[in-house]
Amino acid sequence: MATLRPTMAQVMDAILVGGGAAGFFAAIELKRRRPEWRVVLLEAAARPLAKVRISGGGRCNVTHACFEVGQLVKHYPRGEKQLRALFSRFGPSETMAWFEERGVALKVEPDGRVFPVSDSSQSIIDCLLGEAQKLGVEVRLSTKVLAIEPGWTVRLQDTSLSAPRLLLATGGAPTVYPWLAELGHRMIPPCPSLFTFTVDDPRLRDLPGIAVDRVRAVLETKPALRQEGALLITHWGLSGPVTLRLSAWGARMLHELNYQAWVRVDWLPDVSQEEVRETFQRLRGSHKKVAGDCPWGLPRRLWRNLVEEDLAWSRASEKFLNRLVETLKNCRLQVLAKGVFKEEFVVAGGVPLGEVDLKTLESKLCPGLFLAGELLDVDGVTGGFNFQNAWASGYLAGAAMAERP
Ligand SMILES: Cc1cc2nc3c(=O)[nH]c(=O)nc-3n(C[C@H](O)[C@H](O)[C@H](O)COP(=O)(O)OP(=O)(O)OC[C@H]3O[C@@H](n4cnc5c(N)ncnc54)[C@H](O)[C@@H]3O)c2cc1C
Repeated sequence: MATLRPTMAQVMDAILVGGGAAGFFAAIELKRRRPEWRVVLLEAAARPLAKVRISGGGRCNVTHACFEVGQLVKHYPRGEKQLRALFSRFGPSETMAWFEERGVALKVEPDGRVFPVSDSSQSIIDCLLGEAQKLGVEVRLSTKVLAIEPGWTVRLQDTSLSAPRLLLATGGAPTVYPWLAELGHRMIPPCPSLFTFTVDDPRLRDLPGIAVDRVRAVLETKPALRQEGALLITHWGLSGPVTLRLSAWGARMLHELNYQAWVRVDWLPDVSQEEVRETFQRLRGSHKKVAGDCPWGLPRRLWRNLVEEDLAWSRASEKFLNRLVETLKNCRLQVLAKGVFKEEFVVAGGVPLGEVDLKTLESKLCPGLFLAGELLDVDGVTGGFNFQNAWASGYLAGAAMAERP
């Protein structure tokens, strides 16, 4: 870490690094509680809140309408127990109230995701920028922090700033990891979470856009991971809630496997193998084509691909039917690579939760240093859970910084 010259540093009451969701929430809450303080928020990019802008396909999925903390923490593959301390203090109802009290009307979609009624992330951005400006947070854009030193001093391109309280809310990019490692934090290496699976299997070819409401999928990792829910077939393989949840829970294992794995899909989770066999035996008397209609209502084109052969039920051999049972109940698909999920993306890894007081977000190793947002080793499944972490940790950090002597 570069040695800085504190004598040259401009003195502030608090410095916050990272003009994303967590940094803004922290700065606003801190300045609200300490209007007389000089609070500066430093953002490397020319425009703040870049991820808020693109989030949720431009609509910003602000949080999730999951109001019971025990249920909420289940949506975070890592750190379930520890996160109770965070979300019992600032949960989705607090997030929703925060925005609504500041004039952003929100709506809850049937699957629980919360969006601004405007369906535009700009409403969230305008609210955050307006609030920061009204309270007098000094937001400095195009201002990259190059180094930090305990005490706290931050070095910028041409100058340095110092303050007794420093927040890092620099997101998932690991550029600040070495600084924190040098301060003694045992940084958990970053790896992507929330991605699709690239699969090239003839049975899924030419089916982009086909969705099945409920499948059971097992990722053959050690340990194996199981999820149930909707599956979406894309040009490149698999997406939809089941795939994204497997990618989140399996993020680290899949990273280690270089995204080479097998996934087993049960296309009919509510029908037993025996029932499938019995139905096939009944249908064997029919001259209709097997590929015609799925007895259980699977999408027609998918059923045709799974059947693979063009023959009538009456001509179906035992061997063929056994293979079809296996395909329906235990369809093994090879994952070849990690695909891109455009709606949401998050990094697993960061500052271990055990090294942060989750009531105040202050580092347990470095007094006066606060850490919030995706920089922490917190990542959620898709649906607004990642912003919920950013709002909650930002808010609590801002509140605690205001009380820090
Ligand atoms: C495409 C996409 C869509 C998403 N959609 C959703 C969604 O709908 N709902 C949801 O819950 N989550 C969503 N997420 C995840 C969510 O955006 C993040 O979890 C969240 O933005 C994290 O907030 P943060 O403030 O911790 O970090 P960030 O938003 O990443 O902000 C960190 C900021 O720090 C700045 N910075 C970094 N280093 C420095 C430095 N040295 N000096 C100064 N500034 C620095 C960066 O420029 C950045 O602006 C999405 C993510 C992506 C990529």
